[in-house]
Amino acid sequence: MAVGLMDIKGQYAALQDRIEAAVLDVLRSGRVILGPNVKGFEEDAAAYMGTAGAVGVANGTDGLTIALRALGVGHGDEVITVPFTFYATAEAIAQTGAMPVFVDILPDTLCIDPAAIKRALTPRTKAIMPVDLFGLPADADAVRAVAEPHGLPVVEDACQAWGATYDGRRAGSLGDMGVFSFFPTKNLGGYGDGGLVTAHSEVLVQRARELRFHGSKDKKTFTDIGFNSRLDELQAAILRIELEVIDEWNTRRAQVAVWYDEHLPREVLRPAVPQGLTHVYHLYVLRHPQRDAIAAACRERHVDCAAYYTRPLQLQPAFAELGHKVGDFPVTDAAAEQNLAIPMHPNLTEAQVQEVAAAVAAGLT
Ligand SMILES: *Cc1c(COP(=O)(O)O)cnc(C)c1O
Repeated sequence: MAVGLMDIKGQYAALQDRIEAAVLDVLRSGRVILGPNVKGFEEDAAAYMGTAGAVGVANGTDGLTIALRALGVGHGDEVITVPFTFYATAEAIAQTGAMPVFVDILPDTLCIDPAAIKRALTPRTKAIMPVDLFGLPADADAVRAVAEPHGLPVVEDACQAWGATYDGRRAGSLGDMGVFSFFPTKNLGGYGDGGLVTAHSEVLVQRARELRFHGSKDKKTFTDIGFNSRLDELQAAILRIELEVIDEWNTRRAQVAVWYDEHLPREVLRPAVPQGLTHVYHLYVLRHPQRDAIAAACRERHVDCAAYYTRPLQLQPAFAELGHKVGDFPVTDAAAEQNLAIPMHPNLTEAQVQEVAAAVAAGLT
């Protein structure tokens, strides 16, 4: 039997009656833009996260750009981030007119290296953007320890990490602002595009609210060049239902990770989970120098797999002007060559995990 990387249809089936009723309600209500579902979801999300507020936006990429703009980032500024992430992290920085400054990641967690941030600071640095990669929070206290003495705000790219925790605090609440994506493949996924911006300060929540509506407080006076970037009422109606089950889904993902730990061949490197943190496994990403052989064996046995960020951002043509070459970020380069995501979703069974593990083992012989 084939094993899929994700199971969007299965997650839908589990909630089908409720989702369909909620969508019909929206269609029949005639309130399809910034209505009661967006407001309700924003309130529930802020309560879940423990932030002053949350602002629904059209997608995670816009969310990152809006967060940076709310903090006043723009032309001539530098924002420090990682090259081992989805392109949108750095693209959002460039969209503000600022320059992304890449620093390497840590070999165990694959998240930002706080010591490298310190070395990359310049008088132009305006913000730091760690990424909670694959569902594991970056080391928020260590990042803050570097940022705080310089008065630098931290924007947490939590697009892959809804529900993850760091010393009991939720991903998305670990910096000054946080950003989520509800792209359908994320662990909290909608049925189309969607995103969310969180902030601890009421002022920043309000700034983000204005920026998502053309830079206007009252829809009559336009004080800023903003965005047309709203979370859809339909998506919000669905996300409110999913919010009730996301903790259970994340728990089931964690159980799958425990099974993988038990059944994968010993020589395969598992995702690290530092003490005090929880991982939500948006993706389960193993590492091994023979990644391509493992991937070939998986495909042969109809086990879905995918290597992520094989061309890291410092080597992308869009950032050629930064002048980076292979070797500038050795940990990133190694992760790009050795990583492989294997099936991970809340509906996987232990028997399927054993099937995947057997396919991985076959690639190593
Ligand atoms: C998905 C993702 C984004 C962008 O989100 P979209 O909703 O697709 O715009 C940004 N950063 C990371 C780390 C992501 O995984």
